Amino acid sequence: MSEPMHCYRHPKRETRVSCATCGRPICTECMVATDVGIKCPDDARLPRGARAGVMKGNQVTRTILVGLGVALAGIPVAYVIFLLPFALLISAAAGYGAGTLIYRAGGRNGGPVAIATSVLATAVPFLVVLAPELLAGALNPIRLIAIVIAAIAAGVANRQM
Ligand SMILES: [Zn+2]
Ligand SMILES: [Zn+2]
Repeated sequence: MSEPMHCYRHPKRETRVSCATCGRPICTECMVATDVGIKCPDDARLPRGARAGVMKGNQVTRTILVGLGVALAGIPVAYVIFLLPFALLISAAAGYGAGTLIYRAGGRNGGPVAIATSVLATAVPFLVVLAPELLAGALNPIRLIAIVIAAIAAGVANRQM
């Protein structure tokens, strides 16, 4: 038959099987039998019909709506965070939580829309709370770092591996 292919995860192993979703060759150790055919571990983990970073129209809408909700709900949260000790740690946790909510709203697809929405939805409430300081040019650098950490954590929650 055709030339033997090599598993994309084990380049030294020959195989004649390839993933039903992405078409990459996979060896017998890597292949996962699903109800829609043999798949690579990356695609077998995703919900049926979902591809990393690709959302359907209604998932994009939900992502953006939840993002707006998170941004609004985040304003009092961000305000409280800066009154607490360990603000950096708490902002990371809050950012990750916000990102996870948005990730779920988008059908767990992740991808650029979910990441951008999460980062914005997390950064906006902090920026609103800190606006007076920003305008006065007297922003505490720790608070700036808290925004960056929260935004990164929100983005990380949407990673698709
Ligand atoms: Zn695949
Ligand atoms: Zn393999």
